[in-house]
Parts: sequence; structure tokens; C-alpha cells
Amino acid sequence: MSFVKGLKCRECGKNYPKKALHVCSFCFGPLEVDYEYEEIKKVISREKIESRGKTMWRYKELLPLDNEPTVGTQVGYTPLVKADNLAKSLGVDELYIKNDSVNFPTFSFKDRVVSAALSKAKELGFKTVACATTGNLGNSVAAQAVQGNLESYIFMPANLEQGKVIGTSIYGTNVIGINGNYDGVNRMCSEIADKYGWAFVNINIRPYYAEGSKTYGYEIVEQLGWKAPKHVIVPMAGGSLIIKIGKAIKEMAKLGLIDGSDTSLYGAQASGSSPISTAVKNGSDVIKPVIPDTIAHSIAIGNPADGYYSIKAIHESGGWAEDVSDDELIEGIKLLASTEGIFTETAGGVAVAVTKKLLEQERIPRDESIVISITGNGLKTLEAVLDKVEKPRVIEANIESFNEIMEKREACIV
Ligand SMILES: *Cc1c(COP(=O)(O)O)cnc(C)c1O
Ligand SMILES: [Zn+2]
Repeated sequence: MSFVKGLKCRECGKNYPKKALHVCSFCFGPLEVDYEYEEIKKVISREKIESRGKTMWRYKELLPLDNEPTVGTQVGYTPLVKADNLAKSLGVDELYIKNDSVNFPTFSFKDRVVSAALSKAKELGFKTVACATTGNLGNSVAAQAVQGNLESYIFMPANLEQGKVIGTSIYGTNVIGINGNYDGVNRMCSEIADKYGWAFVNINIRPYYAEGSKTYGYEIVEQLGWKAPKHVIVPMAGGSLIIKIGKAIKEMAKLGLIDGSDTSLYGAQASGSSPISTAVKNGSDVIKPVIPDTIAHSIAIGNPADGYYSIKAIHESGGWAEDVSDDELIEGIKLLASTEGIFTETAGGVAVAVTKKLLEQERIPRDESIVISITGNGLKTLEAVLDKVEKPRVIEANIESFNEIMEKREACIV
């Protein structure tokens, strides 16, 4: 039983069948999945959702498949953590961390989009899946392709962190490192997709892929007790996740699952790759592509596919965007780890540091509910903090050696 009508152009509204298509052949606008909301409204309810398994597929009526999912059926429903220690440190009343650093199976929010994309790819009859990746997407496509018995090809910039590279090749996929940045990889992959006829999750089946991101938003709302948060901070690469969080909350209001939605969306980027936040700060809706130069590789996209629409989503929600330096993002990683015991990757450090900045700028008030999107795991980007944490003190294996440390320590404290 499916509620998917087909694909629809976001610009001119022209309808397309449910195939591996992503751009409108008339106006070149992006295609989006179109649902029968009136039909969904008749069958969906809070109780029905709550009665289902704790995975992203509990919202299956709002996801782009014709049949039950076949890949990544355990993905999602990650913790929403009430972050009282970090709240105190930042000087705010009500703060939450939506923690996809522990998503299954590859510890980032990309497991959501990949579960949707590969399940759809199987429905469409593809045998080979592929992606252009800044790291996390490759991890997830490789892992979930194994689970779904699909052949996979992962194309990534050659300079990614070891955790991201090994965290892809371990699954026995075909990994291709490419000299240059993500934007070059992505351009090349568009040509490969045409020639080889594979399902490129973030290119020719992007409309289905992107819908998976909505579940991050649904979960936040459900976990807050069926209430939309007032402010959400989201790290941006291509700009898709932030749009889909906004869409998810609006859909829940439209379907009567929540009373209303007045959530403001705030985009977070690293200053070394900040085409979206720069446009927002300049009051422009035009993206000026950049050449990325930041340690936040997972969100280092210089020419974001959804740049224009993410700016629109931010403006319409009454939100804003900011960017932070590599030093600030490292401080963000350390602040989250030392207050909440959550070790996030560079993109998460960006989200925390941008939140701090927006509070200081009084763009976000301190007395309303705030959710910080933590989208990836710090164990994959150890290089970022390698020289920024205290090294363990090495001693001999006897109590005297340890006593010596403690004595010095007491001297310090006094
Ligand atoms: C991909 C990614 C994002 C942002 O994704 P977009 O939807 O492309 O904006 C954020 N955080 C992490 C860790 C990611 O891997
Ligand atoms: Zn069109």
C-alpha cells in the first residue's frame, strides 16, 4: 500500500512517474516525491506510529516506497538527549541533542537517507548502487549495500579522514579515491550515472534519498512529546537535511499529528566551506560556489545541490545561518564531549559552535526550546582532535608511581 503519487517538479509543478529521475526536463528544477496527504491523514495517528518498532520506518506512510522497506529496516529512532549540562554552559533553559552519532549501522544520519535510497533502488530493479561522498554517505552505502546484496561503488575525495576511508573499504565495496574536492567528484559521478545506469543515491535517485532525512525531524517531534521545537540548528553540506527537517515538521502539522509548527531553522557551516551561510548573512538567495578549505570534510561542499532551497527554508522559518572557524568547531566538539559525554565529529562541532555564536548574537533566545542536530560520530574524525586533547600520562605499574601523580595534583589544587 503506497501513498506516493509520483515525482513532481519543485519549480513548475510538472508530474513525473516513480522512476530514477531527479531533474525536470522542462525547467531543470529538482524533482520531489509527491504524496496523497488526504489518504495518509485518514490512516495515520500518533497511536499507530507509537505501536510500531523503534526505527525510522514507523513513519512509513510518509516515506517514498511502494512496498515494505528491504534495506536498513533497523535504522533510526536515535536518542533525543535532554542536555542540561550543555544548557547550563551555554546559558539556556531548554536544550536537546538529537544524537545520530549512534545511528545504526554506520553512526551518522546518512543511514536514514541510504535506507530509503537502497530500498527504493531495489524496488526499481537496480543491482548496483553508487554515490559521491564526503565520507559518511560512502560508509552507509557500502554497509547497507552488503545487507541488501547489492554491488556498490563509492567515489570520494582522496583526502578524507582514515576513519571514513577504512569505514568504507571494510565492507568490501569498490572505493575510488579522487584527487580534488567533493564538487569535482560529484560532477564526474553525474556522467558515470548516465553511462553505467547505476543507482547513484545522491544523484539519479536523489528525490527518494532525500526523503529519508525527514525521519530525523519526525523523531524530534515525537520524542518531545508530539511537539515541534522552537529552534533547530542543523549542519549543512548540500543543504538537504535542513530543508527536510522543516518539511517533516510541516507535514506533521498538516496531518494533525501536532497542533502547529513555528520552528525556526538555523544552518551551520564551517567558514572554510560556507556558501550557504554566507548567502544568508549577505541577504542574498544566490549561492556563490567556493573551493572548500576546512577540516570539516563531511560538510565541505562548495557548490551545494540544495543551496537555493535551503536559503529559502531558513528565511521562511524565521531562522538564520552562521559559520565557524576550524578552531571554533574543535572547541564545539570538546564542549559537547565534556558536558554531555557525546563525542561527535567535525560537523557536530560546527553545530555546537554555531549555536553558541547565534546565542551570543541574540539570534536565538535563551528561554525557548532548542535542538542541536548531532549528525555524526567523533571516532571517525580522530585526526581533527589528535593534537587537541591531553595525552595519557604513562607511569610504571606500581602504586608509588601513581601516588606521585596524585601528590603533584594535590599540590596543584592547593
Ligand atoms: C551529509 C552530512 C550533513 C549534511 O547533509 P546535507 O543534507 O547534504 O546538508 C551533516 N552532517 C553530517 C555528519 C553529514 O555527513
Ligand atoms: Zn519543472
